[in-house]
Amino acid sequence: MTISPARAILRALHEVMAASTSAQAKLNAVVNIVAEQLSSEVVSIYLLRDGVLELFATKGLAQAAVHVTRLAMGEGLTGVIAATREPLNLAEARAHPDFAYKPETGEEIFHSFAGVPIVRREASVGVLCVQHVDPRQYDDVEIETLQTVAMVLAELIAGAGLIDDVAAARARSAASGPVRLAGLKLVDGLARGTAVFHQPRVVIEHTVADDIEAERARVYGAFTRMREQIDGMMAQAEFAGGDTADVLETYKMFAYDEGWSRRINEAIDTGLTAEAAIERVQQRTRAKMRSIPDPYLRERLTDLDDLSNRLIRIVSGQLGSAARSGLRGDTIVLARNLGPAELLEYDRRVLKGVVLEEGSLTAHVTIVARAMGVPVVGRVRDLRTTIAEGDELLVDGGAGTVLVRPSAAMVASFAATSALKARRQAEYAKLRDLPAATRDGTRVTLMMNAGLTGDAAALETTNADGIGLFRTEFQFLVSATLPRRERQTALYRSILDAAGDRPVVFRTVDIGGDKAVPYMRDGDHADENPAMGWRALRLALGRAGLMKAQARALLDAGAGRTLDIMFPMVSEPWEFDRAKRIVEDQRAWLARTGHATPAAVRYGAMIEVPAIAETLDVLLPRVDFVSIGTNDLTQFLFAADRANPALAERYDWLSPAILRFLRRIVVLADAHDRPLTVCGEMGGRPLEALALLAVGVRRLSITPAAIGPIKAMIRSVELGPVREAMTRWLAVANPQVRSDLAALAAERGVEVG
Ligand code: PEP
Ligand code: MG
Repeated sequence: MTISPARAILRALHEVMAASTSAQAKLNAVVNIVAEQLSSEVVSIYLLRDGVLELFATKGLAQAAVHVTRLAMGEGLTGVIAATREPLNLAEARAHPDFAYKPETGEEIFHSFAGVPIVRREASVGVLCVQHVDPRQYDDVEIETLQTVAMVLAELIAGAGLIDDVAAARARSAASGPVRLAGLKLVDGLARGTAVFHQPRVVIEHTVADDIEAERARVYGAFTRMREQIDGMMAQAEFAGGDTADVLETYKMFAYDEGWSRRINEAIDTGLTAEAAIERVQQRTRAKMRSIPDPYLRERLTDLDDLSNRLIRIVSGQLGSAARSGLRGDTIVLARNLGPAELLEYDRRVLKGVVLEEGSLTAHVTIVARAMGVPVVGRVRDLRTTIAEGDELLVDGGAGTVLVRPSAAMVASFAATSALKARRQAEYAKLRDLPAATRDGTRVTLMMNAGLTGDAAALETTNADGIGLFRTEFQFLVSATLPRRERQTALYRSILDAAGDRPVVFRTVDIGGDKAVPYMRDGDHADENPAMGWRALRLALGRAGLMKAQARALLDAGAGRTLDIMFPMVSEPWEFDRAKRIVEDQRAWLARTGHATPAAVRYGAMIEVPAIAETLDVLLPRVDFVSIGTNDLTQFLFAADRANPALAERYDWLSPAILRFLRRIVVLADAHDRPLTVCGEMGGRPLEALALLAVGVRRLSITPAAIGPIKAMIRSVELGPVREAMTRWLAVANPQVRSDLAALAAERGVEVG
């Protein structure tokens, strides 16, 4: 059997790496080894020093040129290779438009040229090149061999301290230039920070194997582990469905693909460590990826790239996410997708924004990020290929854009937008202690939505009238297991303590359906259509143990105070009765057994399923208050999935169907003298909130960031004429409420943003 050039070179390099000679001596040895094995007339190594590529070692060019010949990034063939991080293979170097002649090297006699970048942490740190007198194209095996040697060189020069990582990253950014990526607006807000991949790429420290058999065993073990992980993920994804399941299918296909594992094994045969072999094969995949025009196939290769990263992480034992890596400075986290728990692992002081390749408006991660005030852009393609760890990013959640490596002009315009926002915030802050009352004296109760431990702090900054919706399921979503009753009590108590005299409406868990938690999988209720499925109160009534535990936790936390409890997705009055009974039974038991109980308990129902609106005359006398969840209500009224981006803009919250529906509920609630709140996202948008006031709504519970803008709108409006106009509009066929209301607001100086 003939021994491959890569293998022969790696054997020789193994000795070079182990020798206790200087870095320069090692580089000299490398060029000699490569020259001999590839029968090359010239082999040269250029390394990045002070932002320019300097000839560090050569066999074949004039030795006087060493440490003298220097090329800028992008200058000459070497500079182009470093700047693009792509190999060049030319029979006639001079024919290339970027050829730059350096007389001191004496290279004029050489015709053919091939070079590969030396890459570390996704930045070029140098170039390895070969030249021949005769014009000839190098074959694939030779280029592959050079790439393998370049990997070893990256290790060698990093170990010798010859790499300036920061300078390399800066040079790479400068070479790549700014890019604007567009995605889906998920959470509004502006953020500037450094790109950090949630799953960091492992930096390979050892490239040349000491024991090939041992490396083979390591890869084998890693494949087994990865396959188990994917099978596990698939079992969970059956429940989640959608995109995730498709991606996992592809993962599985690759994980069991013989060709992939064979190629990695062949790379190990040449003498690479397991990590280096996986990366070597990954580099080939990337090269292929760049040349494939078909977006579908490119996407599949991105999946393989993802999987290669996972395999390297497993084999090297570096499994933690970036959240645990002690991040400092403003950070933008990039990921294919995240779970809420993964997001919450990040230090809130450094986490400024999130960019996802997937994501949707009601994904858990979006709901949690909104609660945390972290802007999110979703559905951004090819993150790994356009953004490198450490790149500067400007995220505009409201516009759904990400500026990568922004130019000075982009940064300046971003800063102007942020300053404008900050000025507006300062204006809103001035309203903090002023009442939310219209110019003609209608007082509006402005409350905030919450769900996480630290959220109550926003009560102070916004001076909201209370928490109108506390989404208790957030605690369930972020836990790996069902939160114990004591933990639930502790959370509810801390919120009540922080709220003081202000009311807090606790909504019992709204899990199931799209807010699935793995520990609550229910084989009998695999939902085809999760939003209309086994969720919220339906699930809670079906699992009395869960509901009882939550009732106990709420009653314990509310001991001695007034407790407000609200049930989600009530569809028929008996569901409310049954839920209330469960809580009342617990309350009676606590009283009987001498435990402290709340001074009073008020019970509310959410109106988000249209059916309940038809039985309000039966429901209202039974409840103490109601709250309209417009997010769900509108999706059910229009039969339009709220998580489907294709339908996101189709039906308007200001359509007469919704406004008339809401008005009818308001009239009935008033007639029964029951407080009615709107707690969906609709109430947090100034024009929509104005429409709500115009149909008689007087209580809103909204995301804390919206309190300022909504209060400004309320304080600037004279409501009477708007109500009259709304009555007129809703009486005619096909009114244009959005445009007419906007025009009226503009005419009357109402601040609707
Ligand atoms: C709603 O549906 O409007 C609501 C407030 O509840 P959630 O968004 O949590 O479903
Ligand atoms: Mg809802």
